[in-house]
Amino acid sequence: MKKRHTTERYTLADLENWREAARDVDPPIRLGVFGDPVAHSLSPQIQNAALKQCDIGMQYARFHIRANELRSALRFLRELDFIGVNLTVPHKIAGFAQIDDADERANRTGAVNTIRLRDKKLIGSNTDGEGFLRAIRSEFSVDVRDLRVMILGAGGGSGHAVAWQCALENCERLVLVNRTLEKANALVERLRPSFAGPRVLGPVARLEAVPWDEAALRAQLADIDLIVNATPLGMNPSDLSPVPARLLAPHHMVFDAVYGSSKTSLLRAADEAGARGANGLLMLLHQGALAFSSWFDREAPIEAMRVALVL
Ligand code: NAP
Repeated sequence: MKKRHTTERYTLADLENWREAARDVDPPIRLGVFGDPVAHSLSPQIQNAALKQCDIGMQYARFHIRANELRSALRFLRELDFIGVNLTVPHKIAGFAQIDDADERANRTGAVNTIRLRDKKLIGSNTDGEGFLRAIRSEFSVDVRDLRVMILGAGGGSGHAVAWQCALENCERLVLVNRTLEKANALVERLRPSFAGPRVLGPVARLEAVPWDEAALRAQLADIDLIVNATPLGMNPSDLSPVPARLLAPHHMVFDAVYGSSKTSLLRAADEAGARGANGLLMLLHQGALAFSSWFDREAPIEAMRVALVL
């Protein structure tokens, strides 16, 4: 019997004709990630390591699904014997509108990164916020609740999840930055009740949205401890840093949700400014472990997953 590797990328056309497309695959593909781009995703690496470690005879694969294909892809998925999927860029917010039910975290954030199938129904959840929290704790030995946080890309799926997690933690201060400012303004309105309590912080607001321009970033960054990049800027080696080194200072902690084999432009800028930086690998690990638990109702073998990432 011919075996195909899970590094292979499948498409909407394959899902439409899944029995044929996956006929020779052993063990069968019952999990995956939908994204565009998706080739960079290391989720197959960690999830396949977890499946192997737990002796679960199935595989996790990449699916290149474009924004206008998500609805059809999810419709086909309902008819297949999949356990579930992850959604990545750009599907997390659009996916929320296309599932049948959502847990509390997905409802709160309005974004979904994990779907499980139950009786042909798609149940959405979101593990990005908790994954982020755990990553910050282990990368910087600090708790988000003690920090003044700036999120770049607060209008996207991961930005929403991170912002809600910061609100749940009742962090000291939260500044939302987004290319499309209206989305950050809308999120501020939804988060406002979480920041109503008094905190002694001086003249700056505890919660605000600011436009993405150098003057606004410069004015904010003196009162920020942790900068989070939740945009895809940095996935492409030629991307400019979302924040130039001249705006960063040694007291900043810089967390780039983007991960890859080489340093992102933002992390290079952090180095140049003498600031501490970390990429998104630990967030990937933790959100993946939580997704595994939601699919199999058991604890994920996190050490095997960590080894698969060579962390
Ligand atoms: P998304 O929902 O498509 O959101 C993209 C966000 O980035 C939006 O706020 C968008 O702003 C902004 N953006 C896009 N292109 C931009 C540009 N050229 N300049 C400025 N802003 C831009 O994507 P997502 O799913 O949240 O993913 C975002 C990134 O986080 C991806 O690189 C993904 O791999 C990474 N991520 C990593 C982990 C991990 O575990 N490490 C987990 C989740 C996500 P507008 O609102 O103006 O369009």
